[in-house]
Amino acid sequence: MTSPIALRIPNPHLLKPLLRYCATLCCGLTLTSCASQAPAPQTAQNATPIPQQARIVDPHSYANTDAFITQRIALDLSVDFDRHVLSGSAELTLSRINGGADTLVLDTRDLEISAVETAEREGAYRSTSYSLAQADPILGSALRITMPQQATRVRIYYTTRPQASGLQWLSPAQTAGKQQPFLFTQSQAIHARSWIPLQDTPRVRAAYDARIKTPPGLMAVMSAENPQALSADGEYRFSMPQPIPSYLIALAVGDLRYQAMGQRTAVYAEPSMLAAAAAEFEDTEAMLERCEAIFGPYRWGRYDLLILPPSFPYGGMENPRLTFVTPSVITGDKSLVSLIAHELAHSWSGNLVTNATWNDFWLNEGFTVHLTNRIVEEVFGLDVAQQERAIGASDLKRTLSELEQPRDKTLVPELAGRDPDDNVTDVPYEKGALFLAYLEQQYGRPRFDEFLRGWFDAHAFQSETTADFRAWLDRELLQKTPGVVSAAKIEEWMTSTEMPTDTPWPQSTAFATVDAAREAWLSGSTPLAEMDTAHWSTRQWEYFLNSLPTPLPAAQLAALDERFNLSQTTNRVIAARWFRDAALSQYQPAYPALRKHLNSIGRMLLIEPVYTALAKTPDGLALAEQIYAEARSGYHPIAQTSVEKILAKARAEQAGH
Ligand SMILES: [Zn+2]
Repeated sequence: MTSPIALRIPNPHLLKPLLRYCATLCCGLTLTSCASQAPAPQTAQNATPIPQQARIVDPHSYANTDAFITQRIALDLSVDFDRHVLSGSAELTLSRINGGADTLVLDTRDLEISAVETAEREGAYRSTSYSLAQADPILGSALRITMPQQATRVRIYYTTRPQASGLQWLSPAQTAGKQQPFLFTQSQAIHARSWIPLQDTPRVRAAYDARIKTPPGLMAVMSAENPQALSADGEYRFSMPQPIPSYLIALAVGDLRYQAMGQRTAVYAEPSMLAAAAAEFEDTEAMLERCEAIFGPYRWGRYDLLILPPSFPYGGMENPRLTFVTPSVITGDKSLVSLIAHELAHSWSGNLVTNATWNDFWLNEGFTVHLTNRIVEEVFGLDVAQQERAIGASDLKRTLSELEQPRDKTLVPELAGRDPDDNVTDVPYEKGALFLAYLEQQYGRPRFDEFLRGWFDAHAFQSETTADFRAWLDRELLQKTPGVVSAAKIEEWMTSTEMPTDTPWPQSTAFATVDAAREAWLSGSTPLAEMDTAHWSTRQWEYFLNSLPTPLPAAQLAALDERFNLSQTTNRVIAARWFRDAALSQYQPAYPALRKHLNSIGRMLLIEPVYTALAKTPDGLALAEQIYAEARSGYHPIAQTSVEKILAKARAEQAGH
């Protein structure tokens, strides 16, 4: 009598999935924002003004940006699917900030360095000495290179290791087509250093060129100008002329094909997924046009999408010119395409104006969630946008109740000594967006849109700190329109562990319908058979499952599953919420399907909550460990680390009781 949920959702116009994690990262900045800006050392040779990025301290990079800053990177790499390594060279063209500096310090992780050379301007390369420091578990190894007095170029010959944290090598069996292997990178937050030796900090921006050699029959694509057809000899050349931070350097290689969607938009995917992807995301050009109308010109040329295999650990990754996308948002009904709006919005917030350190992560993600909601409202209407906002707010409340470190509940966390990937939470995304929604409410939409556009225009292709934004906010909004918002209120939004009492919590009439239906069922006034869900959106289903009390009696879970066939849904976003509820209530009849879910997808947003819920009891933890052993090889290294941390924490807690 019941059909899969995906069939019960008649595409009420898009809704996005929970897309946290389009990226990774963390954030931060210090409570006194100026503490993040240390004075740069002054030397006799230091005749030119010190650029701003040299003054910012990034706790996640060894790079000595007070001496050298990368201007351009040239990669020459071969892709070896047999050994699971990239090998070749990276050449960095540098600006000397400190004329007397004799050492260049770069970030690396798990790289095998075979030789290093330096050159003066257009001069010939000569061998130089170097040393690789002992590896730090979070930061990797500092590579110290001796730089002759006039040297401004360095070339490093190296090979990656199979366990490189930023690379995932997939066997043919792990792809859609089952015929060819697949490789993709994920550089955010600090994984670029596992496949390129470089200044791996978002405060430094560089253009790049690349020559990539692949086995014949495969296509290589990058966050750059891309090919639209296969190369006969497996060699591809790329150019990214705009300066970008290291975490946006990206590469994928596989059995890929190209299909145009609009004038500036196209999709790359394995052949069997190409048509479905192009149909699902056909509104991309319209979203791009709306975004330009509000926030200014799109400055990157093309906006293309790359559909990755299911093990991609994020919903999307905003690699410039070529967003990487999880296949879990291809549902056939466009119900999850607002994820594309999010990645597209990063073309302004994040890629154009970039967080200078991972402590400033909310500048990337809070802004992007705000922009996403604006685009969704423009293209798909207020009702859909309010569902987006409300599900985000509901997730934020849950997260705030669970976070252990008080400062992680603020927009200015301190991540020094911590892995930035540990701190991708709803706070920088949703609290950041609510802060901007508050400002919009106070100053009015036209004025606030103009303010945001001014921020993007004035800081295009720059990396900024939270302190920079606060200074801009004070000058351009608070002082120009006095008496509306106080400096004390801004401070409260930034540093309080509580949400301000005048937070503009979003209201969704679609969710009010869900609340009424849920209460009617739980109170016994309406039987489940009469619950009208025929027109519920994916977001409404998420909200419904998110707001069920846990644990729920097995009989009620069984009734839900029988009525709505939740265990068999093909909508991965709804499935993740359902299996989390089932695990929290130890509802074992759902476990076979839960196991299948965890074995078939590697997107962290869809697996972490399920592992976390299972691991709350000793029996559940044992099952989680069993399933993880089966599923591990299909997960990205970043997802493996994340799940292992969840399981280790649960083991430690249970051993302590
Ligand atoms: Zn994002």
